[in-house]
Amino acid sequence: MAPTDALPTDLDVLVIGTGAGGAPLLARLASAGLKVAALEAGVRHPPEGIATDEVAQAGLFWMDERLAAGKDPVSFGRNNSGRGVGGSTLHYTAYTPRAQPDDLRLKTEFGQGEDWPLEFAELEPYYDELEYFLGVSGPAEYPWGPQRRRPYRHPPLPLNGAARLMQRACAEIGMRTSPAANAALSRPQEQPGYGTRHTCTNRGFCQAGCSVGAKASMDVTFLALAESLGAQIVDGAQVTSLTMRGGHVTGAEFVRGDRLEHLSARTVILAAGAVETPRLLLMNGLANSSGQVGRNFMAHVGVQVWGQVDDDLRPYKGIPGGLISEDTHRVPGLIGGYLLQSLGVMPVTYATQYARGTLTWGPELIQHLSGYNHVAGINVLGECLPYEHNRLELSDELDGRGLPKPRVHFSFGENEKRMTVHAEALMRDLWGRIGARDVWALPRAAHTLGTARMGTDPATSVVNPDGRTHDIENLWICDNSTFPSSLSVNPALTQMALSLRTADALLGGLKG
Ligand SMILES: Cc1cc2nc3c(=O)[nH]c(=O)nc-3n(C[C@H](O)[C@H](O)[C@H](O)COP(=O)(O)OP(=O)(O)OC[C@H]3O[C@@H](n4cnc5c(N)ncnc54)[C@H](O)[C@@H]3O)c2cc1C
Ligand code: SF4
Repeated sequence: MAPTDALPTDLDVLVIGTGAGGAPLLARLASAGLKVAALEAGVRHPPEGIATDEVAQAGLFWMDERLAAGKDPVSFGRNNSGRGVGGSTLHYTAYTPRAQPDDLRLKTEFGQGEDWPLEFAELEPYYDELEYFLGVSGPAEYPWGPQRRRPYRHPPLPLNGAARLMQRACAEIGMRTSPAANAALSRPQEQPGYGTRHTCTNRGFCQAGCSVGAKASMDVTFLALAESLGAQIVDGAQVTSLTMRGGHVTGAEFVRGDRLEHLSARTVILAAGAVETPRLLLMNGLANSSGQVGRNFMAHVGVQVWGQVDDDLRPYKGIPGGLISEDTHRVPGLIGGYLLQSLGVMPVTYATQYARGTLTWGPELIQHLSGYNHVAGINVLGECLPYEHNRLELSDELDGRGLPKPRVHFSFGENEKRMTVHAEALMRDLWGRIGARDVWALPRAAHTLGTARMGTDPATSVVNPDGRTHDIENLWICDNSTFPSSLSVNPALTQMALSLRTADALLGGLKG
């Protein structure tokens, strides 16, 4: 919407945020004939405006200052979440594995962590639907998890240099690998509401945005569909407060340009991500009778191992999300497990990570970077247990809008530390087997999860299994904040499944 366009009125549903949580339900509700709109803090980034320049693309990220505390402070900014019509999917790597059924039953299996208040069978039809709609490319037979009922829509994407090396190294120790499920197209696809999405050109810049629409970010998939069905998206509109009357939410106030505006709606769905959603709830003192808002912040164990080989790999080329192994889904001595994924990397990102991870500067750094074209990386994505003390709170420092900055406390527990050690040793062994030199590791945490968890008990959770807040009947939440446990797989596909499920629950309730 142009800033001069009239704002929508008489809304059935107002969605705040247009990422993996907000976009699918916006389309689903619009297709059911509801009058819906979304407020999005960021602006539009159409594919044709995406540059092959990671520095120029910094605008895809949420760069407002967030304060990080605890023993393992989380790195925010470019590392963590998106801002724009499409949210973090604008810059995600588009790895789209499904959760495995036991991911949802961690507490039952180990006596620690948390069970999800829903079963894999409830997510499965949504996974089927999403993989087809998004155009996920993947193998004919995926080695892990239950047999799928519907094959991947497109064949796998070609492997980049790091993926081929990982394949070779894993084969040496008898570890299974597979081309990953990736929501980027290996064949062109007609996308309802958008038009033709083109085949991936192997440009390798997924984390700086996709210039051909090959990657299934929300703007070229669900949001295009939603708008074609009448949904309105107000971009550049940052919500600062939710308005209330008689125990019900009535709408949201937002800043657009230099104006403070308001939209009313009968139902509001918060989908602003696992940092901004709890921040908004805490600022407004809402939905927190359990005291759980902001608690149980999780970030996946994400240690990376890098090395250099003689081959000219050009790590900026090829789909960065290429090869996967879930053979470490369960590891004796660990609660939960992790998966292995090959990496592609853009030059400035690599240089920054190397400097940060090895504290190398000046001529030594330049010397190392002269080998950039020979660099290959693997990383893991592992279960992070929820802990009450890992939490988001409002700090006394104010941002440019006069709002309290969020402060996120995060420390790895014993399990996350053990997992990091185990995974680093495995990846060093793998890189040793292909003769990599200058091998180094970057311990890190990835993704922002938890902070408004779902559950059946209003005393210990913020939303019910459908995403409706326990405290406010017409306020729902649909983003990574509701994850009760982190899962040992990448979160976006499951988030989109939850989004469609929330939409169906809301529509079912309306029919009832
Ligand atoms: C570099 C990177 C790579 C990733 N790669 C993968 C991957 O390969 N596979 C995978 O599964 N996951 C990946 N992820 C994670 C994935 O992108 C997220 O899990 C997912 O997009 C989160 O969805 P969400 O709806 O919770 O939040 P988001 O997608 O971040 O959406 C939240 C939206 O809300 C908006 N918003 C926030 N506050 C306000 C406000 N006050 N008013 C209005 N709008 C607001 C934001 O601008 C944003 O657009 C990656 C993440 C990063 C950072
Ligand atoms: S590698 Fe493919 S999906 Fe990724 S940005 Fe390039 S064209 Fe898009």
